Amino acid sequence: MSKPHALPTMEYRDFSHRIHDRAAAHQRVIKAQLELTYRCNLHCLHCYTDPYNSKDWFPRELGLTEIIRLLDEMAELGIVWLNLTGGEIFQHQHFWDIYDHAYRRGFLLQLYTNGTLFTKGMIERLRHTPPFTIDISCHSVDEESFDWFTQVHGSYRAFLRGLDLLQHAGLPFTFKTKAMNWNKKEMPAIKKFVESFGQPFGFTTSLSPRLNGDLSSLSYRLAPEDVVALQRDDHSASTEEELCSAAIADLLQPPTDRLYRCGCGTNTIHINAWGELGTCTLQYERRVSLRNHSLREAIDSLFNQVRAMRYQSGSPCRTCEVHPFCDKAPSDARWECHDAEAPIPYDCDVALARAQSALHQTLIHPLRKTDKEAVASHD
Ligand code: SF4
Ligand code: SF4
Repeated sequence: MSKPHALPTMEYRDFSHRIHDRAAAHQRVIKAQLELTYRCNLHCLHCYTDPYNSKDWFPRELGLTEIIRLLDEMAELGIVWLNLTGGEIFQHQHFWDIYDHAYRRGFLLQLYTNGTLFTKGMIERLRHTPPFTIDISCHSVDEESFDWFTQVHGSYRAFLRGLDLLQHAGLPFTFKTKAMNWNKKEMPAIKKFVESFGQPFGFTTSLSPRLNGDLSSLSYRLAPEDVVALQRDDHSASTEEELCSAAIADLLQPPTDRLYRCGCGTNTIHINAWGELGTCTLQYERRVSLRNHSLREAIDSLFNQVRAMRYQSGSPCRTCEVHPFCDKAPSDARWECHDAEAPIPYDCDVALARAQSALHQTLIHPLRKTDKEAVASHD
């Protein structure tokens, strides 16, 4: 009997690099984020999807047949990484049909969840067909603060129960933390908590308006100096040197007046719970309905549109020297400043503080610079 062939293996990092390199060379989409539903058992105060977490909006969400069709189209396009998110994914009435289908199609599945709904039965199913990873939101490890922020009494205890089940099952999970003005002092405690599960701690700081334009989520933003101080203290995040070299590399690129200077429109897609295709979670300047188009057609049309978008006004963002340090998203600017091209003053403050800290230089504020130029041109 001939010996069975051993499948070749490689480190995950090498595999990931290879797929990304091929995607860049052949302009292929390899990552997708699919919002299954806006339903959620919690109502976090910063949540951008929460305004649509009500029965008035649920009939507008994609049905099971539509989702299965999209999964098949994604597999045919060669998408490798699929992130299922919400809302809360486990609130979708057909979650397991969707999950099993996606699993069978061979995606590397990343699940975003608040972790409060796990039961032994669910954990057993996941053990049988495990995802690539489960990312759980962890914005507090203080029961009172956690329940205040989620607006659901008992949510912290449910979160701990979920973690306990996951840990005992040996399922792969990591944590996502958002640093905000109300939990900034908790960062060392959250770090300790996360590390007690053998997980690396990391956090993000940017908050966005809610999907309906409500700006109340922004009231939880950190002060710019706190963003810099926390990032300086966080030795597990990108070091200032790394941030600085990335920013300098970016500054050496030829100037561009593209509205999206990030990777939008290259290798990633986002599909919201209403079946609208975007280039990332927060890109709402252009969307294409997947109810009327195939995924391939929609991607071709959308990516061309997004990559072609240019600043039309004299916005300071166009020539901004600290833009590599800036988190501005054009759709956020449209909600916050009524103009996708406008600078977001908060993001300017954060970008300036980050740039000064990384470059060890005092720089002119991007908006004051414009004032000065304007005064000079009037002289
Ligand atoms: S758990 Fe997630 S989806 Fe649910 S309210 Fe909180 S942030 Fe929103
Ligand atoms: S720092 Fe301000 S001016 Fe510069 S890109 Fe960001 S929002 Fe625009």
